[in-house]
Amino acid sequence: MFDVQAINLHEFQVLAGSSNYVVDFLHKTCTCRVFDVDKIPCQHAIAVAKKTGVDPQLLADPYYTKPYWFSAYSESIKPAEELPELSADNIGQICLPPDTHVGVQEVRKEEIPRN
Ligand SMILES: [Zn+2]
Repeated sequence: MFDVQAINLHEFQVLAGSSNYVVDFLHKTCTCRVFDVDKIPCQHAIAVAKKTGVDPQLLADPYYTKPYWFSAYSESIKPAEELPELSADNIGQICLPPDTHVGVQEVRKEEIPRN
């Protein structure tokens, strides 16, 4: 059970036992980070939606809607061209993944005011 309290028009504090989360409906974020990353409302955002009478389905990113999925396949999908046959020299050889260099990226978290 969550205790939902409004901070302002679009931010809400959600108390879940000893844990405390801040849901921002304007930016579609929650301090648990599930809402931000998955773009689907987390349990805290759903609690706020229920408290404020907002349909939680409207909080999901449009990327998850049927029109987006339909548009992904709206163009013609052509069959792949015929692949060349493997030479006898390549049969049985181990295929290693390509060499790649992955750089270290700095992960920045947004500062969320806690009041
Ligand atoms: Zn959350």
